Amino acid sequence: MGKISVEYDCGVPQLACTDCGNCDSIMGKSLCSTVSRGCCHYFPEFTLAEIQRLLHLPDGGKALDTILDYPGTVINNFNLHAKGHFEKEAYDNYFAGGELLETGKIMDHTIFFRTCPFVREGSGCIFPVRFRTTVCNLFICSEIIENPGYHNEFKPYIEERMRYSRWIYRESAELQHILTENGINLVLNLESSLKLLSEFALNEYKFPILEPVEY
Ligand code: SF4
Ligand code: SF4
Repeated sequence: MGKISVEYDCGVPQLACTDCGNCDSIMGKSLCSTVSRGCCHYFPEFTLAEIQRLLHLPDGGKALDTILDYPGTVINNFNLHAKGHFEKEAYDNYFAGGELLETGKIMDHTIFFRTCPFVREGSGCIFPVRFRTTVCNLFICSEIIENPGYHNEFKPYIEERMRYSRWIYRESAELQHILTENGINLVLNLESSLKLLSEFALNEYKFPILEPVEY
């Protein structure tokens, strides 16, 4: 039996799942050298809203430095994309071997050979919840959240996840407008862009407390 609930870290919501610490979902399977990393095969993309949060919350500056210091981080005009490790040789051998995993709806088998740069085997993410991306905090694999036996119970989670993700998208779009109006972006004017983001108040979103679901 597992449980999904909403947890908060400095007001930042996370959909917490008790199965994640002992993941046996196909989405969390690893065929690469980092074996125990759940579904942290994602290469996180920090949006402007998430960067602004890093600039406002205690110790967020250190987390931002970690992201910027990581050599695989690509600075785009309006986001930071931390590209992790992809084991191409192992992936090529897997395909050449012809014995592919039964993956259902998952078409992209590269995920089994990817690792986020910020996950540590056995201990998980190096960042507390408040500094992770919205994708990281709200993702629950379909094997759990699309379980047909719990459609009604999980529906509020799926709906609220959608609402919050849209809000983050709109907040980032608004911050992008502000940077653009000032003629700056992260690529050309990193320091002044971060300074401007830090000067704008962090808007709040009250993610509702949802009834925990045991499944
Ligand atoms: S969300 Fe699913 S795939 Fe990801 S760690 Fe949790 S149980 Fe594993
Ligand atoms: S940033 Fe953290 S939670 Fe997100 S994919 Fe990487 S290790 Fe996992």
